[in-house]
Amino acid sequence: MIYADNAATTRPSEAAIQAMLPCFRTNYGNPSSLHGLGQSAGESLFAARETIARCLNCQSREITFTSGGSEADNQAIRSAAAWGAKNGKRHILSTAFEHHAVLRPLEELAQRGFEVELLDVSRGHTVTAAQVEAALRPDTCLVSVTYANNEIGSIQPIGEIGAVCRQRGVLFHTDAVQAVGHLPIDVQAENIDYLSLSAHKFHGPKGIGALYCRQGAPLSSLILGGAQERGRRAGTENLPAIAGMATALDECCAHLEENRRKVSALRDRLIQGLCRIPHSALNGDPENRLPGNVSLCFEGVESESLLILLDQRGICAGAGAACASGSLEPSHVLLAIGRPMAVAHGALRLSLSEYNTSEEVDEILRVVPEVVERLRAMSPVWRELTEGKRPFLLAP
Ligand SMILES: *Cc1c(COP(=O)(O)O)cnc(C)c1O
Repeated sequence: MIYADNAATTRPSEAAIQAMLPCFRTNYGNPSSLHGLGQSAGESLFAARETIARCLNCQSREITFTSGGSEADNQAIRSAAAWGAKNGKRHILSTAFEHHAVLRPLEELAQRGFEVELLDVSRGHTVTAAQVEAALRPDTCLVSVTYANNEIGSIQPIGEIGAVCRQRGVLFHTDAVQAVGHLPIDVQAENIDYLSLSAHKFHGPKGIGALYCRQGAPLSSLILGGAQERGRRAGTENLPAIAGMATALDECCAHLEENRRKVSALRDRLIQGLCRIPHSALNGDPENRLPGNVSLCFEGVESESLLILLDQRGICAGAGAACASGSLEPSHVLLAIGRPMAVAHGALRLSLSEYNTSEEVDEILRVVPEVVERLRAMSPVWRELTEGKRPFLLAP
């Protein structure tokens, strides 16, 4: 089996699994307990927080552990909005291709009287700092821009946007779930106030993530209860997952450049090969993209059928966001970059990691063109296109 759906989730690393096991077997104390076993758990928690902070270049007290990327996004956005409401600032800037964990809380805020403005991403499949700067207002409380898009891989100019926001005194959140562990990140140099990350996107376990919140930026708790996480997130810490996350991130950061080079080369070979398929188009910026992301649209093909046939041939791939599969709606990300409905329905996302091999890329390059051809041969839409009864939307 070839696993090429790393944007949906990744295989936990052996080191991450090994780091988790003692937290179940021996080091199972509650980090808040005063006895030795609890203190030992508390030390492991402290060490994990230091590791995460080091990888982002922040202080460990600026890290709050959450249940994952979605919770971190929700907490950052709601904290900034609550601060904005108190200060008469109810304008929020974001982009049209954010993850639903950002868009849904923003929709809710819009219903509660906030003015949410989603910036256009159709030019270059990215947003620019100039766009953000032009849209900022005196009553803007928050700018939220994804570090790297989970469907099409585009990397946003986060450092430039951060500089603009800091200069104008506006809080800046970035959903960096796809970027952490894969791209070098420095929250201080990039002027980031809030950053969301999730372990299962960098070979850690599922159900654990973190929110970086710059010291001094407002942060309120979504979950009320005990005083864990300095009152910012109640509930006994999930130490096994936290230890696994820290180990996975440490590993990724230690090999970041090496992995980036290796995975980008595999990605570029896939993109070059698959773009030769007639009436296809690459989604996202060709160069400024996540090392592992390959996203294409094929005309006259339905994503669902494509994924099923690829699965039968031993290839695990995705269309867009894993959470959106199963719904017949085309991806909001593909529509946001300007793909017509008919084209957006034929999306394929192959997302690679350092665990993929060159041989696997060869196999994907053999199988995908065959499967696309087979599906087109059975497609009434494709027949209409080739008979000239409807126009092709993508170039041959
Ligand atoms: C996966 C993902 C999330 C959600 O993270 P979970 O840990 O699964 O809640 C949020 N944003 C982006 C960009 C993602 O890729």
